[in-house]
Amino acid sequence: MNVIEVSADGIALWYCPACKHGHGVPIEGQPGRQQVWKFNNRKQKPTLTPSVIVRDIPKRSVCHSTITDGVIEFMKDSTHSMAGKTFTMKKMPQDEPLGPRVEEKSK
Ligand SMILES: [Zn+2]
Repeated sequence: MNVIEVSADGIALWYCPACKHGHGVPIEGQPGRQQVWKFNNRKQKPTLTPSVIVRDIPKRSVCHSTITDGVIEFMKDSTHSMAGKTFTMKKMPQDEPLGPRVEEKSK
């Protein structure tokens, strides 16, 4: 079961149980992207580095996570209730809309 999908334009997409929508980041091998993440190319047990920060500006929310071997760990600076928790990734629900595309690498 794939828990991460890669779109035709090189965006790795997964479901975030804290934000209850998808997140996506561009992965290596995409020319012209300002920042890319390293991906281990294992869609069933993905690892993305470095961590991913998603800011929803209107809601002033932050979702900061690492993805390692198919497990999401939410960093404690996340503003949602899953901060500090881990989650074994599940299949992305079909037709899941992507959330705001404001992902950043951790500093
Ligand atoms: Zn999230």
